[in-house]
Amino acid sequence: MNWVQLAEEVLEGKLLSNDEALAILHASDDELLLLMQGAFTIRKHYYGKKVKLNMIMNAKSGYCPENCGYCSQSSISTAPIEKYPFITKEEILAGAKQAFENQIGTFCIVASGRGPTRKDVNVVSEAVQEIKEKYGLKVCACLGLLKDEQADQLKTAGVDRYNHNLNTSEKHHDYITTSHTYQDRVNTVEIAKQHGMSPCSGAIIGMRETKQDVVEIAYALHALDADSIPVNFLNAIDGTKLEGTKELDPRYCLKVLALFRYINPTKEIRIAGGREINLGSLQPLGMYAANSIFVGDYLTTEGQEENADYALIRDLGFEIEVNEKQAALQA
Ligand code: SF4
Repeated sequence: MNWVQLAEEVLEGKLLSNDEALAILHASDDELLLLMQGAFTIRKHYYGKKVKLNMIMNAKSGYCPENCGYCSQSSISTAPIEKYPFITKEEILAGAKQAFENQIGTFCIVASGRGPTRKDVNVVSEAVQEIKEKYGLKVCACLGLLKDEQADQLKTAGVDRYNHNLNTSEKHHDYITTSHTYQDRVNTVEIAKQHGMSPCSGAIIGMRETKQDVVEIAYALHALDADSIPVNFLNAIDGTKLEGTKELDPRYCLKVLALFRYINPTKEIRIAGGREINLGSLQPLGMYAANSIFVGDYLTTEGQEENADYALIRDLGFEIEVNEKQAALQA
């Protein structure tokens, strides 16, 4: 396959066939740089060398009644994580201040649980109004399954984006969780869209799915028109159902990132959880397909030192995307 030519065709509007998509995941390691060159051709067309930074604030940890097999916060996990109820508005604001100072583009307020309570939505809404005023940060909320009135309140408060990952293909979904359905997840993304929030939805790779499953997730996110697509690589936590699962190698992770870029050419593709542990020393190459990363820690696992992320971007000759207030702070 001529990967660069295929990328040119994608730029002309082509949607890859299933066979072409699978061929990316089956590409030999010897073709990897050509594949990444193709992915970069697309990435550069839409995003140049800009990198968007995102930061997660874990607003409520543990105590979740759901049974997602990858999650240390689930009802079936025995992982010894820190557990706490929904944090206060002041704590959220302190996180936003740190995000602002660290050149973060999108501040992500994430809470465990099947869905938010009225009080949770009120706390997020009040915090977001102040975050917008003080810092001008984009805010993404990730609070679980969403109802119409909750989506309306969050949008009115200023939440820009709502995250709810599809995680895996429809046919692999029930292997990962049985306490909610794949369609529940799709519905929440649709509700967020209907209420004017930008849809963020992504995947977790390495959960014993097939390559065909990975292709199907990439197409499902294309069909959902997700603006932002976090691609997580499983960091199997001891005490979860997927404990001990280690199927990924760094070269395969790069092929997955390329696949998501070829199928979702215009979208924000983020290397999300598990970046450090799964891509290892090949992390910089991932930025030729992705245009976004998380900086700092993940929900219950640690990321690498922030300085290593900034050095990675600088060494590539790429540039962090900042808002006007952040640019004024640096000037
Ligand atoms: S992923 Fe979310 S819904 Fe699933 S168990 Fe973890 S916190 Fe609960």
